[in-house]
Amino acid sequence: MTALGELIARRIAAEGPITVADYMTECLLHPEHGYYSTRDPLGAAGDFTTAPEISQIFGELTGLALAQAWRDQGRPAPFALAELGPGRGTLMADMLRATRAVPGFHAALQLHLVEASPALRDRQAATLADHAPAWHHAAAELPGLPLFLVANEFFDALAVRQFIRAGEAWRERVIGLCDGALAFGLAAPARLAALEDRLADTAEGDLVELRAAADPIIAELGARIGAHGGAALIVDYGDWGSRGDTLQAVRGHAPQDPLAAPGEADLTAHVDFRALARAASVPVAGPVGQGLLLERLGATERARALARGLAGEALESHVAAHRRLTHPGEMGTLFKAIALHPPDTAPPPGFAP
Ligand code: SAH
Repeated sequence: MTALGELIARRIAAEGPITVADYMTECLLHPEHGYYSTRDPLGAAGDFTTAPEISQIFGELTGLALAQAWRDQGRPAPFALAELGPGRGTLMADMLRATRAVPGFHAALQLHLVEASPALRDRQAATLADHAPAWHHAAAELPGLPLFLVANEFFDALAVRQFIRAGEAWRERVIGLCDGALAFGLAAPARLAALEDRLADTAEGDLVELRAAADPIIAELGARIGAHGGAALIVDYGDWGSRGDTLQAVRGHAPQDPLAAPGEADLTAHVDFRALARAASVPVAGPVGQGLLLERLGATERARALARGLAGEALESHVAAHRRLTHPGEMGTLFKAIALHPPDTAPPPGFAP
């Protein structure tokens, strides 16, 4: 067992089984042994990759979409350009480069990053040094300014609890010990206010996931966008409504048993966009598939323009990257986007046909 696995086993031996959410939080964010606390997990040599790491097209087009939303709202100055979970800073660097030519945009922006990982903050500081970012631990610390925000593969890393329907009640999936090893089990059935509405769209034995940590974050974003203007572009893999066990561990680009190596593998679960939309106090546009969104924003034209300077292997990998981001069999439909926007404005570009 990993060092973190030993710590978790000792905690369970002393206090009893823990929820899947507690397990995820320990694995991802434990200050000493947590997955994100200790490393940069992205890229070919890491455990997983993301849209902005696959192609610059993703950050360029989403950056221009946010800049257009800023123009449509009368170019407020100053405003906060912000990101939740910026990883290596690649997405924000591409957004900033693509928007350099938008008159007034850079002069008016203040860069704000919400990041939990010290290792990734260092990485972001190097990538974004020219733009003097301010870092925060939570969305609640973002300034009271017009807020133009992006979050890509951030919400999937927030912990979920899992519940299995038993009559009109729910049994929580928990992690305990079996012969000294971590093992899944089920808690006693209980009624749950937060799941009352799911009695209507589930059947006996169905599993649903609840991501309690997402609601206050969405509420914070909605409050700022409602009061000061702005837009939040949220992209992730997931569905409209949660159904089924989507807890997934990935290590070295391969799926793994989520209990196999606590702290050494990335742990995520599908994002329930319906739950995010319900937590927002402002209008929510979408979801739109990532492929359709990028194509509406001009991905094919941008890919053609970039291809003109390429040949051989570089050209092949560029074509493969465009396909990977947009094709329905790859990231095109599993990944989806929603946008929070003020009540009296149109959704950002790409969200209306
Ligand atoms: N957006 C980037 C990275 C995605 S990985 C990209 O698309 O490449 C998830 C990111 O969210 C990492 O930067 C991770 O450190 C950060 N993160 C995960 N949980 C977090 C939390 N609870 N608070 C703040 N940041 C978190």
